[in-house]
Amino acid sequence: MADTDLTPMLRQYREIKAQHPDCILMYRIGDFYEMFFDDAVEASKLLDIVLTSRNKNDPNPIPLCGIPYHAVEPYIARLVAAGRRVAICDQVEDPKSAKGVVRREVTRVVTPSLNESDDASYLAAVFPGEPSGIAFLDLANGRMEVAEVPSGTLLREMRRGVREVVVPEGTEGDWGVITNRLPGWVFHETYARRLLQEQFGSLGIEGMPRAIAAAGAALHYARETQKVGRIGHLTTLRRIEPKDRLIFSEETAKSLDLEGVIALFDKTGTAMGRRRLRERFYRPLVVRTEIEERLEAVAELGAQERLAGSLRESVREVYDLERIAGRIALGRAGPRDLTALAGSLCRMEKIAPWLAEFRSPLFRKLAAGWDPLPETAALIEKRIVADPPATLQEGGVIADRFSTPLDELRSIGRNARETLVRIEERERQRTGIGSLKVRFNRVFGYYLEVTNAHLAKVPEDYLRKQTLTNAERFITPELKEFEEKVLGAEERIRSLERQLFAELLQQLAEILAPLQDQASRVAELDCLIALAVTARERNYVRPELAEEPVLEIDKGRHPLVEAALPPGRFVPNDIRLDPENRILLITGPNMAGKSTAIRQAGLILLLAQVGSFVPAARARIGIADRLFSRIGAQDRLASGQSTFMVEMTETAQLVRHATERSLILLDEVGRGTSTYDGLSIAWAVVEHLHDQVRARTLFATHYHELIDLERTRPGIRNFHAAVRDEAGEVVFLYEIRPGGMS
Ligand code: ADP
Repeated sequence: MADTDLTPMLRQYREIKAQHPDCILMYRIGDFYEMFFDDAVEASKLLDIVLTSRNKNDPNPIPLCGIPYHAVEPYIARLVAAGRRVAICDQVEDPKSAKGVVRREVTRVVTPSLNESDDASYLAAVFPGEPSGIAFLDLANGRMEVAEVPSGTLLREMRRGVREVVVPEGTEGDWGVITNRLPGWVFHETYARRLLQEQFGSLGIEGMPRAIAAAGAALHYARETQKVGRIGHLTTLRRIEPKDRLIFSEETAKSLDLEGVIALFDKTGTAMGRRRLRERFYRPLVVRTEIEERLEAVAELGAQERLAGSLRESVREVYDLERIAGRIALGRAGPRDLTALAGSLCRMEKIAPWLAEFRSPLFRKLAAGWDPLPETAALIEKRIVADPPATLQEGGVIADRFSTPLDELRSIGRNARETLVRIEERERQRTGIGSLKVRFNRVFGYYLEVTNAHLAKVPEDYLRKQTLTNAERFITPELKEFEEKVLGAEERIRSLERQLFAELLQQLAEILAPLQDQASRVAELDCLIALAVTARERNYVRPELAEEPVLEIDKGRHPLVEAALPPGRFVPNDIRLDPENRILLITGPNMAGKSTAIRQAGLILLLAQVGSFVPAARARIGIADRLFSRIGAQDRLASGQSTFMVEMTETAQLVRHATERSLILLDEVGRGTSTYDGLSIAWAVVEHLHDQVRARTLFATHYHELIDLERTRPGIRNFHAAVRDEAGEVVFLYEIRPGGMS
């Protein structure tokens, strides 16, 4: 359709859409956000809403769908979850005073990584090279992390939750998430330095030009989408080193059902604590002192049951301060965000004395900086009513007695009634018309109504306004003046409230960094409590840590399998791995408990490095640098590829990064192919792991032939999952016993 055929409004729509061609444009008209043309067709499908058209009788009707403005957020979230970007186009002038088409602008762009979703979602910027510069930006929580890593390092091994990537134009490759290719200049170091300096003050990441370039590009993209200059709550820029964490892939996490384990531990009371807990599970520690510090704190919480209970109760009442800080920074905080903030800070005051009773170093650190900004809470409470409406537009947000001009304006409104009654009374007396009424309607404003029977008594100064069948309506100069005062007052109240609220937001924007610090303390505390509560409920023990690569587990249990069984039904097992016994080959029939045994060992190690207690009677854990868990490819036969090759390459990739400090769990490697091939793969892998990699390894297999390896390789031990034959029926004992299955 030619632009000249369009109405002026649709022409404006077209212009704005042209600036955001890769977004679904939500265009505000009155109380709706409308989508047109292809956007409408796509959004109506993704959102399951009705597609209509704007000019039905036209031969070329324009497709259209819309969403009421007050309910728009969940719809945006759905589009974003489907991998789309959404540009929100608002009316930026009062439609009443607009001449011609209301001025509209895109006020923000919501993308898969830059949004308020509950889970942490990251934007990654990659500046490829050797090394590659990487930046991760978590907009909701206001954090940026940077690193320089060998090219080819997998983003998802560094950070879970990367939803979107930006790279320089011309970069090849598939990141498996939405990828934005930005012009090369966005990645220029000088430009990046300027942006970062503006954002963070000092850089603190000198000597990493590629990381700086990536960070600059991430920031550039965030500013473009958020339509802001400095992003107030983005206050921390940290350098990360992949090797500072226990590294494992998404596949490993899946094969261990890490999500299920997190759910088991999720006894948190706040959204912040929940996010922190997930982060802890996806990025366990590797430094012994740090792990010990957490374990110490969890142990103390476990010992102080009563205090821990009080803490838990109070922490629950703290709102999501991280998100509130973000909304303040981006100017999107509503009245209830602020009262929630004040209430949460007061809650935190109550927690302080309990916190002070704990002795462990981590608690001392938490308590030492526990300073819930009492002035901030007071500031909010003085200015905002206790139970404000959801939006500023509804009015009545600013507290009485905060502003004298506001109080005066409000009293005009309150007195209006009395004044009207007074005028009515006076006019009845003056005219002798007992039935005279003073009323208001939207069209005429205030008026005096006199029934036809009394029209003769109407005085000269009444001005006729409207004639009804049995009455006439009049106004007087006095009434007109009164009306202007009342309506003017309402208008002024609204603008004054807006101004006073904006002032408060500005003041709060000054304290975002300390606010985030407090939020982080709550998250930490909440997360520790969750670990302690789970440990107590499930009877876990504190693991001992070791620097040498050992894994000694007495009566270990699988956290999820145990939780799914009736109490006492899970059969615990021992595991011993050390440099002399570094590979356990576990044989046994299907369903005998092999996978469970090896996964539980992996999870116990992971839990220990999270700083959690573990499901065992005793555990001594040598800290690992990497964890691999892999199930043999069962479904590859059908795909027609050479399964031998696929399995070999995948397994080779897997062991390439492994070191003597890693823990490797391999389950049924070689299953997806012919027996002969499968056995050869399994055999080759075990030999390689033993001779070259020398990592601690648990290898579950139904290839009983492998037990011969024990004779030629000193570090290999045979075990089997025991079964008993009862009158021809196989009974699984779930005990892992020494010796191969004969
Ligand atoms: P495999 O790997 O030998 O085929 P799995 O480890 O998958 O066997 O175990 C099969 C099922 O047996 C599990 O789903 C679980 O219900 C049960 N099971 C496994 N280990 C135990 C155990 N130690 N105690 C009780 N039940 C177990």
